[in-house]
Amino acid sequence: MAKNYSFWQHKYGAYHPNDPLPAGSYATDVLIVGAGYTGLTAAREVKRDQPELNVMVLDANEVGFGASGRNGGFSMSLFGMEPETTVFRWGKKKAREAQEYMQKAVAYVHELIENEGLDSDYEHTGMWRVAYTERQEKRLKSTYRLLCDLAKEGSYFFYQQDEVKSKLNSPHIRAAIYEPETGILDPCKHVRALKTLAEEAGAKIYENSAVADIRRSDDGIVVKTSNATIHAKKLVLATNAWTHTLPGPRKLRSRQRAVWTYQIVSEPLTKDEWETLGWRDRMSIEDNRQLVHYLRITKCGRITMGGGSIGFEYGDAMDKWHDPGVWQDLEAHFRWLFPSLKHKKIYYKWGGAVSANFDMVPEIGFIGDHNIIYSTGCIGHGVSLTQLNGRLIADLISGVDSELSRFWIVNRKAISVPPGNLLPFIGVKAITSALKGIDRFEERELRSKRIQTSNNSSQQTQ
Ligand SMILES: Cc1cc2nc3c(=O)[nH]c(=O)nc-3n(C[C@H](O)[C@H](O)[C@H](O)COP(=O)(O)OP(=O)(O)OC[C@H]3O[C@@H](n4cnc5c(N)ncnc54)[C@H](O)[C@@H]3O)c2cc1C
Repeated sequence: MAKNYSFWQHKYGAYHPNDPLPAGSYATDVLIVGAGYTGLTAAREVKRDQPELNVMVLDANEVGFGASGRNGGFSMSLFGMEPETTVFRWGKKKAREAQEYMQKAVAYVHELIENEGLDSDYEHTGMWRVAYTERQEKRLKSTYRLLCDLAKEGSYFFYQQDEVKSKLNSPHIRAAIYEPETGILDPCKHVRALKTLAEEAGAKIYENSAVADIRRSDDGIVVKTSNATIHAKKLVLATNAWTHTLPGPRKLRSRQRAVWTYQIVSEPLTKDEWETLGWRDRMSIEDNRQLVHYLRITKCGRITMGGGSIGFEYGDAMDKWHDPGVWQDLEAHFRWLFPSLKHKKIYYKWGGAVSANFDMVPEIGFIGDHNIIYSTGCIGHGVSLTQLNGRLIADLISGVDSELSRFWIVNRKAISVPPGNLLPFIGVKAITSALKGIDRFEERELRSKRIQTSNNSSQQTQ
């Protein structure tokens, strides 16, 4: 796990980052901080809209070092935490608009990959959301009804156990919501492809160039790295989970905190193992626990699974890359879900940070006037979202009044993260414990079944 790389980064092989920004003084029309999906898409789209502008992108690490190079690769339409929580907090009208935005986001990514012929290993597989217990199934049905109400007709289907069994051989899945219009991709190949597109459009990208200071001046914004000063007319902060660590404007400290999610990937499955699983449609899968697991097939014939539990840190440190406890739980869940793969080895493990805010809904905001734009709160559902957000940010830079720039997450009223480190830490801990408690309650029938099974098997061996 050299340099805390993800499996995708490790598999990508040698990568040669662009040179850091050399020492000196620079002027640019638009400066973008952060070279993930948000920053790179915004850079390309600004250059396409206004080729005469200078666009500069800085990343503290390599392109895609953040969540964009290490995610599950689900290009999906889930907005915020859950449709129920979005409706509860924002009402049905806004929840419908959000659903429409997300479906547009998935289509935007799909079209981009097809039109530009990107080597992102994209597969338009569709996605399942599954239930393991009777209670989860009941909740799944009500989520299905709500999604059908929020989205256009034909967006979702409900599979009972027979249909599930005919498409995937796992003894524990009892029902699924199927959403056909979603896809999976290789996140690292995709973010590197976005880098090429942004450069072809004329953006200048500098890697290993951390921003160390941000200030206003009489005629714009002054941003510093360790050895360079950039005078920018407009600044986009696309730093996702790192946003609270940025120097300068105090507002940034209260927009979000980093929450860590972890993944494992198996060694490749054999032809017989795939036959036994019967996972022919290659759909991606999330369960509908509170602390969800997400799993999918890779192009190279493995299964990767993530989620389950999450990590967070006290203070500003951004180094919770490893969590052996969560990896162990993921491995146990993998073997439970697919008993036919009991002996399969786990090949690689990694972790990454997502940007979580207090109301769990993405936010695109301004600092002072509209010349500093930030994007935060995409939690674990940002693959498609952040790319359409990049397009939206380009509209904000042009100052056009568009359907995108009117989307209600722009300049929305957001609940601030409490000041200091103690309250946010206690808040996340309390929320996580509550979610764990709900999962434990909803899955108690599984535990009693497991105990029965182990009693039976110990009787047989006596
Ligand atoms: C393990 C994992 C699994 C996920 N799975 C999925 C999934 O399957 N589907 C889905 O929809 N979403 C998923 N997500 C979320 C999704 O990956 C993110 O929402 C999305 O990639 C965020 O993109 P971004 O460009 O906004 O931020 P990032 O890709 O995080 O980019 C932020 C960049 O800012 C840079 N930076 C930070 N500080 C500075 C500084 N001071 N100066 C310069 N640069 C700086 C960082 O180096 C980083 O490259 C997952 C996330 C993780 C971590």
